[in-house]
Amino acid sequence: MKIVDITVHRVDLPLERPYWLSGGRLKFETLDATFVKIRTDAGLTGWGEGTPWGHTYVPAHGPGIRAGIETMARFVLGLDPRRVLDVERAMDLALPGHLYAKSPIDMACWDIAGQAAGMPIADLMGGGSRTPRPIASSVGARTAEETRGIIEDFRARGYVAHSIKIGGDAERDIARIRDVESIRLPGEIVLYDVNRGWTRRQALRVMSATADLGATFEQPGETLDDIAAVRRGHSAPISVDESLVTLRDAARIAREGLAEIFGIKLNRVGGLTKAARMRDIALAHGIDMFVMATGGSVLADTEALHLAATIPDHNCRAVWACQDMISIDIAGGRGPRNADGHLRLPGEPGLGVHPDEDALGAPVARYEL
Ligand code: MG
Repeated sequence: MKIVDITVHRVDLPLERPYWLSGGRLKFETLDATFVKIRTDAGLTGWGEGTPWGHTYVPAHGPGIRAGIETMARFVLGLDPRRVLDVERAMDLALPGHLYAKSPIDMACWDIAGQAAGMPIADLMGGGSRTPRPIASSVGARTAEETRGIIEDFRARGYVAHSIKIGGDAERDIARIRDVESIRLPGEIVLYDVNRGWTRRQALRVMSATADLGATFEQPGETLDDIAAVRRGHSAPISVDESLVTLRDAARIAREGLAEIFGIKLNRVGGLTKAARMRDIALAHGIDMFVMATGGSVLADTEALHLAATIPDHNCRAVWACQDMISIDIAGGRGPRNADGHLRLPGEPGLGVHPDEDALGAPVARYEL
């Protein structure tokens, strides 16, 4: 089987409400999404998506994905998409780094490999759990009152997990954490996501002032060195997200005991092939995981769900349904959707959901063998 063409679509995915990242770094209203269709000479077609969470969140850029694909396409055309490691090596040789540009191609290859095998991707990866995965909300940096309102909205949609964005002003963060904890329901999973928005001193101030609550903090500093320094000063549980990019990052976090949780975002780490290695490092070191799209449609959510299904139930904290924050649907209601705050693994071979091509508009690029 050979890849005979790669078609690229660009779509603006509008957010239901404007989003503020922690620390007031950015307000954005749409996501720049790239959808990639890979066609083979065997008549199978696979889909990938790359949708960065804006362009100031991590070093990833919507137009950069399309430029990267333009550079890599001629090295990928002609390869067997079922041999995902061959495709991975070809991309790494053609364009070192730029992991976020590689993930949509990797995703489309896994989609085809699953279809060829007659199995959902998670089963092809070794076996997917059918236990529904809780969806974490994403609650932007706002006032305590607005935070309560947004949590209530998500609860009304069945959500039992919440990622509350903090970071910036330490005293305000302390007040907000205390407020959320005061309304937290039994069994609710709550993560306080700093998104790199603290200095080391701010991190220690908030962690010390909320030590009685046992809260978990995600990415409580800019770099792994910052997190290591915070770690030496406080024992609060930590999730590493933005600083978990390469397998070497995963190895360092595990070896040095920097975190209890990996926040694996598929687009950031370069796709399923690379993310699966991080999963294994986590499991070997007793580290739990959140597995998520970096952003995007039901396609990106579904890719993450497949990886999440390959994690033992008790090690998988939650997934994300970014689709719930987007006001258009490019898949006509198909694919895994929020059901009582959970996503269920699709049973179809491959990814299990494809876009409605009319909703994507005309392609912006096409590369042929
Ligand atoms: Mg995060």
